Amino acid sequence: MTNTDSLRIEQDAVEPFFKNGYILSCSETLQGIYIDPGEEAAQLLQQVEENNLQLVAIVNTHAHIDHICRVALVKEKWDVPIYLHPEDQDLYDSLPIQAERFGLSYPPAPPVDHPLQEGQELEVGRLVLKVHYTPGHSPGSVCLEVGKHVFCGDVIFAGSIGRTDLPGGSYETLMESIFTKVLPLGDEKILHPGHGPETTIGQERLTNPFLTTNP
Ligand SMILES: [Zn+2]
Ligand SMILES: [Zn+2]
Repeated sequence: MTNTDSLRIEQDAVEPFFKNGYILSCSETLQGIYIDPGEEAAQLLQQVEENNLQLVAIVNTHAHIDHICRVALVKEKWDVPIYLHPEDQDLYDSLPIQAERFGLSYPPAPPVDHPLQEGQELEVGRLVLKVHYTPGHSPGSVCLEVGKHVFCGDVIFAGSIGRTDLPGGSYETLMESIFTKVLPLGDEKILHPGHGPETTIGQERLTNPFLTTNP
């Protein structure tokens, strides 16, 4: 059973991508996971230390560069399993090529240990994270639901949606994911996107221009 009273969330976002990295932890057991390790990794790992947390997994909502570029750094410090949906494996393996397009240089990310799949449940201390497969922004994008919180990667943002012009992206698939997987989670759910501020499903359902102008 998910006891979300035990949920603790640390978030940070830094240049150049200003992508939100998250540490979710169980305040009773102090176990935690790192969602989407990017350039903020040094700061969030410091939070892990200061709060005496024990990382038990690295979970990626998808494999764009901004969300995986510091998986290697986190894995070096915490030798814990890496989770990714298999449909994003090709993107994951192409990290050095993705980096080149930005004039950056990252070594290949360390191997994925476990596939994420629709309906899967991940236990973190007393918390249970439910995996929702929500492709469209990328072929293997997932959202992670824990109690009233949803970590939605680049599927949906406050007032916007993920871009679909990158390799493997599909506008139709993304809209289907949003309408059939995300919105049904319920208006009261708090969305924690990969970029920008948190919002709620209800707020987006009523005001997000990409949702209000679509059937
Ligand atoms: Zn992305
Ligand atoms: Zn992103």
